[in-house]
Amino acid sequence: MEVIRKTEVDLRVPPNFDDYVATRESFSWARMADGLAMPGGGCNIAYCAVDRYVGGPTGTKTALRFLGDTGPDGNITARDVSYDELATLARRFTNVLRRLGIGKGDTMFVVSPRIPELYAGVLGALRNGTVVSPLFSAFGPEPIAMRVQLGGGSVLLTTSSLYRRKIAKMREEMPTLRHVLLVDESGAPTDIPGTEDLRALMADASDDAEITETTADDPALLHFTSGTTGTPKGAVHVHGAVTTHYTTGLYALDLHPDDTFWCTADPGWVTGTSYGIIAPLLHGVTSIIDPADFDAERWYRILEQQDVSVWYTAPTAIRMLMKAGGELAHKFPRPQLRFIASVGEPLNPEAVIWGRDVLGLPIHDNWWQTETGGIMIANTPAFDIKPGSMGRPLPGIDAVLVRHNPDHSVTVIDTPGEEGELALRVGWPSMFRAYLNNEERYRKCFVDDLYLSGDLAKRDEDGYFWFVGRADDVIKSAGHLIGPFEVENVLMEHPAVAEAAVIGKPDPIVGEVVKAFVTLRRGYEFDDKLRRELLGHARKKLGAAVAPKEIDYAAHLPHTRSGKIMRRLLKARELGLPEGDISTLESGS
Ligand code: ATP
Ligand code: MG
Repeated sequence: MEVIRKTEVDLRVPPNFDDYVATRESFSWARMADGLAMPGGGCNIAYCAVDRYVGGPTGTKTALRFLGDTGPDGNITARDVSYDELATLARRFTNVLRRLGIGKGDTMFVVSPRIPELYAGVLGALRNGTVVSPLFSAFGPEPIAMRVQLGGGSVLLTTSSLYRRKIAKMREEMPTLRHVLLVDESGAPTDIPGTEDLRALMADASDDAEITETTADDPALLHFTSGTTGTPKGAVHVHGAVTTHYTTGLYALDLHPDDTFWCTADPGWVTGTSYGIIAPLLHGVTSIIDPADFDAERWYRILEQQDVSVWYTAPTAIRMLMKAGGELAHKFPRPQLRFIASVGEPLNPEAVIWGRDVLGLPIHDNWWQTETGGIMIANTPAFDIKPGSMGRPLPGIDAVLVRHNPDHSVTVIDTPGEEGELALRVGWPSMFRAYLNNEERYRKCFVDDLYLSGDLAKRDEDGYFWFVGRADDVIKSAGHLIGPFEVENVLMEHPAVAEAAVIGKPDPIVGEVVKAFVTLRRGYEFDDKLRRELLGHARKKLGAAVAPKEIDYAAHLPHTRSGKIMRRLLKARELGLPEGDISTLESGS
């Protein structure tokens, strides 16, 4: 198997595996947390992200660069907000909340495109001890109302047009909501009854606002899971998570203060908050914020024009870039780009190698979940990449594979190559502390001191973890357990296939048969010949027992807004069953 050797750059990560292991062994969360504590004790994410820089050298640096439209000359307009400006806006926002009587332990929901007020609002609320729950602004009225209701939101930050389109008519469904703060997209004042004009309140507010006393155990964020396997769960995170955000920014993303970092995720998904807001600020880097939807040419332009050095994106985006072709990639040089990472879905080996060959850098896959709050397993810049592997556990993370026993206990698997459920030993600071209103579901995630992730994986003799599939998606066919990822990878090796999704279809004889759906790359058409070719290709690589029996063409595969393929929806549609909770489905899927 091909191994991609480590990159030679100035690394924060120990540059060889032995040193890496030594770092892991001497690593201490307590020491990391000490370095982030507030001067008088206590812990607050926003203190670490903005307050501590005020008046220092980082204060004048650009914290956030908001991109605008592309001009006729091809240049994208930008608006910079410095660390000091962001801190001032956050303090004003804290005062706005205080004036409205919103305090520690209240919950603020955010339904907003990526505008400065969103970032100031999140940080200002965290400073106030107010729990923040960012939602996708593309959600429809029901998913928004349902989440606000579930979370008992007291305040909602949104824009005038989103309010008119999605929230006004649902207001009665959200009885806990005491205040709605509106930003008008055009910059004009707003006076919609039952709402407040945030910009006017901010202009009136004082610049001074002491930070509310919070500890590492106080709740800070409420994130809903992607809803890939069922109804989204609300995961509660605490201020102490900041230690994970900082540590993973260091070891998994290799952030240096002079980096320009672009995380493409929306803050409505945990990645867009942990790494789209918090981690880059903790490292004093400049973040690129692009509010526009995916567009291959625009993305290449951003990488080029903004001198992005570290880029964090998702497999679907990479596959869409692959679909758009290499020619476009070569049109825009990227001399500053030194590190690319990906998360959210299994990253097929083809995509890693395409990165190396076409973008000039391999793509570093990493694994984590809403529940873990931050990156847990990663291909760091320090060691060789095995394409198709999620990498190794980061310092401070004890990841194991377990086998379930009939008496509900689990046994840790020691043998390399054996498949099991991926579990994490409790003790990392960003572990979720509850599923909202679902204590029983939360309890079920733990056995002894292990958190069970619901994902199946294997570990090889070098300590690399390989994703097999979600426990819910595993297909049982004629006595074989088939991980969808393995089958999808093989299909994506074929030059015609852009993306593949595999499901199990009930079958009276073998239990389930493997059925695949594929989208195609440019220049290919789906016909019987291609179908036969794909079936043959899969059978040759996987053997008859594992290869799909059926392959269908799909113009698009259904994705969640966080970019994951919703296999359960493909299955429901295939079997003519109810679609279930599709609140997180991307429109047009
Ligand atoms: P739900 O829990 O509501 O079904 P979800 O699990 O998709 O949704 P997230 O927390 O956003 O919600 O996603 C985490 C999951 O995404 C992981 O459990 C895993 O299945 C998948 N995932 C994330 N990163 C990777 C990766 N690098 N390789 C493979 N799978 C990944
Ligand atoms: Mg999940």
